[in-house]
Parts: sequence; C-alpha cells; structure tokens
Amino acid sequence: MEIYVIIIIGGAMKLNKKRVAVLTSGGDAPGMNTAIRTIVATGEKKGVEVYGVYEGYKGLVEGNIKKLELNELNEKIAHGGTLLYSARYMEFEREEIRRSAIKNLEDLSIDTLIIIGGDGSFRGGLSLSEMGIQCICIPGTIDNDISSTEYSIGFDTALNTAVQSIDKLKETSNSHVRCNIIELMGRFCGDLSLASGIASGCDLVVTLESGLDKVKLIEDIKKLKNENKRCVTVVVAEKLINIHELSEEVERETGYKTNPVVLGHIQRGGAPTAFDRILATKMGVTAMQIATSTKFNRCIGIKNNIIKIYDIREALNIRKEKNILYDIYEELAI
Ligand code: ADP
Repeated sequence: MEIYVIIIIGGAMKLNKKRVAVLTSGGDAPGMNTAIRTIVATGEKKGVEVYGVYEGYKGLVEGNIKKLELNELNEKIAHGGTLLYSARYMEFEREEIRRSAIKNLEDLSIDTLIIIGGDGSFRGGLSLSEMGIQCICIPGTIDNDISSTEYSIGFDTALNTAVQSIDKLKETSNSHVRCNIIELMGRFCGDLSLASGIASGCDLVVTLESGLDKVKLIEDIKKLKNENKRCVTVVVAEKLINIHELSEEVERETGYKTNPVVLGHIQRGGAPTAFDRILATKMGVTAMQIATSTKFNRCIGIKNNIIKIYDIREALNIRKEKNILYDIYEELAI
C-alpha cells in the first residue's frame, strides 16, 4: 500500500507520496542508526519517502535535509553513533527559529517529523507539534533518564561496555591490593551506574538517587579492608563528586592504593547490542505505524516488554519510577 497526499497548487491537484523526516538530537546513542534504517525500510514498504535531517534541530533550521536510501543504510544497523549526526542547539527554544525549521519542512512537503533523542529533544518536538508539525519521539540516550520508558535505545550497549570495562579493571586490581573508584555517565539518572555495579559485582554504588554519604562510604571501604578484601570497586555516577579528590581521601583514610577511573565517552560508542537493535527496530516500526495513522504528536516507550504510546506532553510529565534494582542492591549491600 502506498500513501499519497493531495497537494493543490494554484487550483491544480497533484498526488505526492507521503514524506516523513527523521532526525537524531542530543547525546548520540548506539542503536540510533538501527532505528533510522528501520524507519527507511518500513517507509519503503509503506510507500512513504523518508528524509534525513542532519545535525538535529540545527540542521532542520539550516535546511540540511536529504532523502534517505535504504541500500545506503543496510550496513549501518551494526554501527554506533548516528549517521545523521547530532548537535546541541538551544536556539531552537525560540519560536522564530522554529518557524524557519517549519518552512524548510513545508518546502519539501514533509508533514511528519520523527525525533530520536532524550527528553530535551522531546521538548523540541513538543514545541514544534504545537506549531502544527506532526512529531513522533523515540527515546535514544545511554542515560536511560526518560521517565516514559523502561529502556531507551543505547542504554543496554552502554551497560555492556561499562560492565566489560569494570570486569577488566577488577581482574588487574585483584592481582594487587587496590580500590577503584569508577565514574560512569548518567548525571540525573543513576540507572547505568546501578545496573553496571550490580552486573559486575561492585562493592558499592553511589548515585544521585541513593545520595552520597562520604563518611559512610569511607567506613564501608575500611570495613572491607579489615576483612582483607584485595580489590574494592566503587561506582559513582558522574558529577556527584570529584572522584580524583575522593580517591585521595579514600587512600589516606583506608590505606588502599586507590585509582580514580573516569570511563567517559567510551560508554557512548560501540556496536549496538542485540537488545538495543531489537528495541530500536520495534520503536522504528511503531513510529512509522503512527506516522501513517491518524494519531500524532506521540512518544514511544516500552514497559514490561510491551510498546507503549503516549502523548508527548503526557510523557514529559510522567515521574520516573524508582529503579527496582535499588532493592536488589540493598540486599547485597555492605
Ligand atoms: P537530550 O535530547 O539528550 O536530552 P538536550 O537536552 O541537549 O539533549 O536537547 C537536545 C536538543 O533539543 C537541544 O540542543 C535543543 O535543540 C532541543 N531542545 C531542548 N530543550 C528544548 C526546548 N525546551 N524547546 C525547544 N527545543 C529544545
């Protein structure tokens, strides 16, 4: 089935294939390419033309928009990063800037925009939808900080990268007597730190949600020293504390040689895991189902392995539930 839109120019009627655009915005995440490919592949089947907007909302305003061809994208399913590139572009909060973005879409007869990104990108989508562009948001961020979905695209890949890195660090540290303080990404959401800490058997995990009690943290490490533990591993979510200063303090107070390790942007890269590829495929297919239906201004999520669809504003107002892994962590805690 091909979907056509009727365009009337100067009284003459013209039939055009429906056109949808897709962009990636905010922090890139492994699996974004899988979602883009899925959208183009589904578009081909549905007879919908898919355009790519390069560099997020910046490219939308600058008119950096090109038609995407499936045969150029097939291999991208296994690549991290985003083939459409991303950009931070706060100018998009201004209505007159958004108006030029809308004109660029209208000039190409594109009426639907699929946005893959975090909650900032969703806010951009909400403000565009309020100006008449049909927007569909897909959660893509390694931080897993979007409250309307249990998992965002990229989280699982980052989790696996963090776990593999911590495993390696523990292996070498076990050969000595050492404490590692590892900083992981996720400034406002500790999911990556918590899940990585549990999956790699770390001794302590500190996140914004759990709070940082430095005195207790050092006491706990001292307790492990008294139990003659050779290797202590602590995961700390980014921006909570300067882990270089914390490591010096831990070394001074506990006697462990203590290494601060900032994993940094390594967590963002890498081939998407099968979980992320499947999640991105499910969400890409759902986005195209919405794009070719009468529903608009929607945001996609997943809960208990079932795809959920919300109104964008409703999704942005959902409060993030406490991660149930905190209860598991408590059972293991020192
Ligand atoms: P993320 O999408 O990963 O949360 P950001 O918060 O940086 O990342 O947002 C990505 C982009 O979304 C911004 O650079 C900006 O272009 C756009 N954006 C964010 N907030 C708004 C807003 N309130 N109104 C319009 N656009 C926004």
